[in-house]
Amino acid sequence: MNSKELKILAIDDNQDNLTSLKAVIADAIPGTKVVTALDGYSGIALALSEKPDVILLDIVMPVFDGLSVCRKLKEDEDINHIPVIMLTALKTDHETRIIALEAGAEAFLAKPLDAVELIAQVKAMAKIKESADRQRTEKFRLAALVSERTLTIEKELAERRKAEDELKKANQKLSQTQLATLNLLDDLRKEMTAHEKSEKELIIAKNKAEESDRLKSAFLANMSHEIRTPMNGIIGFSELLKDNDLGTEERDRYVRIINENCQQLLHIISDLIDISKIEAGLIESEPGEFCLNSLMDSLAENYISKTADKGLQLNLHKDFQLNDSYIISDQSKLRQVIENLLTNAIKFTHSGMIDFGYKLRDNKLEFYVKDSGIGISEDHRNAIFDRFWQVETGLARQYGGTGLGLSISNAFVKKMGGEFCVESKTGLGSRFSFSLPYVPSDNSPSKRISPVKDSIDFEGKTILIVEDEPDNYDLLRIVLSRLRLNVLHAWDGNEAMQIFNHHPKIDLVLMDFKLPDIPGQEITQLMLKQRTSLPVVATTAYAMSGDRERAFEAGCVGYLAKPIHMDELMETLKSFLR
Ligand code: ADP
Repeated sequence: MNSKELKILAIDDNQDNLTSLKAVIADAIPGTKVVTALDGYSGIALALSEKPDVILLDIVMPVFDGLSVCRKLKEDEDINHIPVIMLTALKTDHETRIIALEAGAEAFLAKPLDAVELIAQVKAMAKIKESADRQRTEKFRLAALVSERTLTIEKELAERRKAEDELKKANQKLSQTQLATLNLLDDLRKEMTAHEKSEKELIIAKNKAEESDRLKSAFLANMSHEIRTPMNGIIGFSELLKDNDLGTEERDRYVRIINENCQQLLHIISDLIDISKIEAGLIESEPGEFCLNSLMDSLAENYISKTADKGLQLNLHKDFQLNDSYIISDQSKLRQVIENLLTNAIKFTHSGMIDFGYKLRDNKLEFYVKDSGIGISEDHRNAIFDRFWQVETGLARQYGGTGLGLSISNAFVKKMGGEFCVESKTGLGSRFSFSLPYVPSDNSPSKRISPVKDSIDFEGKTILIVEDEPDNYDLLRIVLSRLRLNVLHAWDGNEAMQIFNHHPKIDLVLMDFKLPDIPGQEITQLMLKQRTSLPVVATTAYAMSGDRERAFEAGCVGYLAKPIHMDELMETLKSFLR
């Protein structure tokens, strides 16, 4: 160490001591700077400002003694490495020395000071200080390095944390995107399925539309043929009737042919009306009480000659006894369905037999028509219920028909609460059946039209016909006059009321429901107000669903749909003109 560089701080309350100290040091270590303080406070301040290499500190000082000053110096980080040499009295006891060491002093010098010892101590302390300085420098450098490294690490850590956060966020975003993509894929798949489905539906609809178009064209062509054929018969044989030379037998034959053709035409028209009503959703079941066996007997009666004409046998099976066969159902629809099935059975059977009837099964009435005809192949078994559909197509058709019968029958049976079933074998025959709910009636005779008495005599009975169509009236007039009935006639509602008021002896009214002035329904109600027991029978050309109900609601006892069948008219007259 270069002695010139030494800086010593001496703290002593005795100026003389300080002066002699300065002198000794300047003499022994020339160039040394000695700063002095007379008390502990200024000593500490100097130590902080001057940063000496060694501090010489007097132990005995007033107010702030050397031990306390030493403790203070050792508390301060900036200066606690500066070696302190305590200047003690010669006789300082052993304990004081220990306390001084504990207070942080590095060495002791006894007063009066020995110059050689002082210098040796100062030099030794200066060396210690020099090494302490180096250590401190190293320590600071290391500390700076550590803090720099720590800062770097913290910074790196913060960056890593930030990067991790970002990675986490990116991961979250990724999984969200993945989820969204999955959802998108799912939606896409669903959309594709829906698309495929609607495409299939479109194709089906297109095929159906094409089929329906084809069927309609075929139907129109058929229809023209189906209408023209009977028209041809009617017009032709009507012309022939004009011949005055015709024999009775021939005339009767022509009339029968005209009548049959008219019935055929009527059938087509009513089928057309029915299919229109079905398509417009206007078909309703109209249940009422009737005798099932009578219905089946009358069907057998009507069809026996048709089957016989073709050399076929017709068998009827009834499960009930006559008196148990009163049921509640829609008689007119049931009749129409069985008629359709019988007509088809006869049409498509060339030999053998036709069985029809009903059975009671599981509280249901199963109706069936079985034939030994041409049968229906399996591929056609469902299609036959589609409107206009026929197995036979084209010009070379042998069977005729409009393709409406089964479609109408199916709709009627559904409305009545039943379901169709077809069993068939090509070439062997078919069995059409359907079950309806069995609702037995209470069989009260008062509710039923009394059994017909054939022997009733109409002579002297008066009947009022309310009818605005001249031809219809004419026909009724001729038929009724032949039965020796007195016939009164009104063209409209007002005239009907006038006649009614002047003829208290009217026995029956045939009331057209469609009149030019007042609806027949109202006239009926007005008449019944005055004569509650007067039988009024409604006649209507509409044959629309609900007409029958309206007639009975108005108080009518019967209902005849136009064209009026003569046998139905006779039944009605026999029932109410007693
Ligand atoms: P139409 O008899 O006026 O042609 P339908 O709707 O009653 O109309 O019948 C449709 C088709 O079903 C008929 O054209 C025929 O091809 C077939 N069909 C119906 N009933 C029978 C049957 N008993 N035997 C064979 N084929 C039948």
